[in-house]
Amino acid sequence: MDSILVGISSCLLGHQVRYDGAHKYHSYIERTLGQYFQFRAFCPEVEAGLGVPRPAVQLRDVAGQIRVVGVKDHALDVTESLEQVGERQHAWLQDLCGYILKKDSPSCGMERVKIYKNDIPVRHGVGVFAGYLAEHFPTLPIEEEGRLGDPVLRENFIQRVFIRHRWQQLCKQPLTAHALTRFHSRHKLIAMSHEQNRARELGRLLAEARPDNIQEIAERYIIELMACLKIPATRGNHVNVLQHIQGYLKTKLNSDDKQELVETIESYRLGLVPLIVPLTLLRHHFRKQPDAFIAESFYMTPHPAELSLLNEI
Ligand code: SF4
Repeated sequence: MDSILVGISSCLLGHQVRYDGAHKYHSYIERTLGQYFQFRAFCPEVEAGLGVPRPAVQLRDVAGQIRVVGVKDHALDVTESLEQVGERQHAWLQDLCGYILKKDSPSCGMERVKIYKNDIPVRHGVGVFAGYLAEHFPTLPIEEEGRLGDPVLRENFIQRVFIRHRWQQLCKQPLTAHALTRFHSRHKLIAMSHEQNRARELGRLLAEARPDNIQEIAERYIIELMACLKIPATRGNHVNVLQHIQGYLKTKLNSDDKQELVETIESYRLGLVPLIVPLTLLRHHFRKQPDAFIAESFYMTPHPAELSLLNEI
């Protein structure tokens, strides 16, 4: 497998590129995620030629237009310089499996960045570079470092990065209806844990795949799949998926084992145990009673166990 390339705001890796020459090093990202992802550090403001140190900038509503201007000197307007940065980076951006952005930045902030109007801040802005990423790479998983502290959002982002990487691997081979169907089969339970109706729609979409439209179907599929996965999985949807998986063991478990499994899923539903508990019990049963569909499903092992992402959701 190729490296999992993830773009990142340089300051989060400890690069001293902020306006004041400081950094915003994030140890979980570098030390933990760095074991699995190969980071491509990038600072849009340095790339735009603003230098280090440089005057701090902010988003400002100027006659209805959002501009990036100096905090102290509003006549300093770097909007165009920053807007051109994304276009120059297009080649390497399209190889990425994810992007981690620095929150609150007028360049990198993904959401809720302060926009000043008459010196009153309103938190509904998007950084210029972050906006470029979202607009031109709609299937790219993007997250802010601040939101990675939330276990559900963290698991959601990392899961999407691994899925995008597997998709990129798939697209390196000649696409066939069979390959697409197998990919979907392996990710179907994950999609169901996010949004059941969208997961069903994905299956219907692939049923239309023929040799003459395979590329178009694949492009629609990955857009729809990533949109589905962006919706955080809920405990209720996970319970439905766990019960669906349990159905594959219906004729294979004795009544004690069945009862234990039902009680474990119920404990998860009530929030008494994390997802890893019913999943571990299911994995135990499927080791003894293998099933081809479940064995291939990434729902059972969505990311490396060492990340412990299922222990907190
Ligand atoms: S522009 Fe982005 S990468 Fe550069 S210092 Fe600001 S937040 Fe960090």
